[in-house]
Amino acid sequence: MQKENGQNGRRAEDFDFCAITAPLTAWFNRVKRDLPWRENPTPYRVWVSEIMLQQTRVEAAKDYYLRFLNALPAVEDLAACDEETLMKLWEGLGYYSRARNLHKTAKIVCEEYGGAFPSDEKSLRALPGIGDYTVGAIRSIAFGLPSPAVDGNVLRVCSRLSADGTEISDENFKARLKALLAPAYPETAKGCSDFTQALMELGATVCGPNRKPECGSCPCRKICLGYQHGTAETLPVKSPKRER
Ligand code: SF4
Repeated sequence: MQKENGQNGRRAEDFDFCAITAPLTAWFNRVKRDLPWRENPTPYRVWVSEIMLQQTRVEAAKDYYLRFLNALPAVEDLAACDEETLMKLWEGLGYYSRARNLHKTAKIVCEEYGGAFPSDEKSLRALPGIGDYTVGAIRSIAFGLPSPAVDGNVLRVCSRLSADGTEISDENFKARLKALLAPAYPETAKGCSDFTQALMELGATVCGPNRKPECGSCPCRKICLGYQHGTAETLPVKSPKRER
């Protein structure tokens, strides 16, 4: 059996991801949580929120985010900020390398790009502290481009939707899903922004981690293969933890 077939022989490539676009984005616009970074999603605001959310829960990040944006409303303010002030603003969030990378990136964006974030993948990926997922989030949410952002939440949702039993830790799975999700992006900038956020929202709420998916309130249940085959709870497949 091929590795990407996982344990049940189903492949995400056989699932029509374009079929989720309309129900998912309509649902998102109906039920989305009111989060401060969703207001006026400029590249700077999306970037700061995504870096904060890397190791901090949404609820905990909200106040830090508002305080940070209040003190440093634009990339130029962050670039010009002294390290002590920045560390004070970051105090309590931990993982201080994130703040140091924010500072470095802000300086590069100001010095090399005149204060405007680049929108192409290569330039964004070259900035300190910005990985594949953050590139996808900035490009789709802020620039309105069809650029998937695949993190653990999105991997889980897609693995359940397509009933693909590939192990979630398989790096190749992420790349496959990125390629499969790209054509499912709508044509408008708002549509692209909404689609990424809708996938994130589904993965953070009704199809969340470490609990039973709430398929009864999911906008995709009519097309979700994990739900239809009764395998959603067994997905995504995780390799057994090694004994220490
Ligand atoms: Fe997740 Fe259930 Fe929705 Fe499928 S139907 S995407 S398993 S919540």
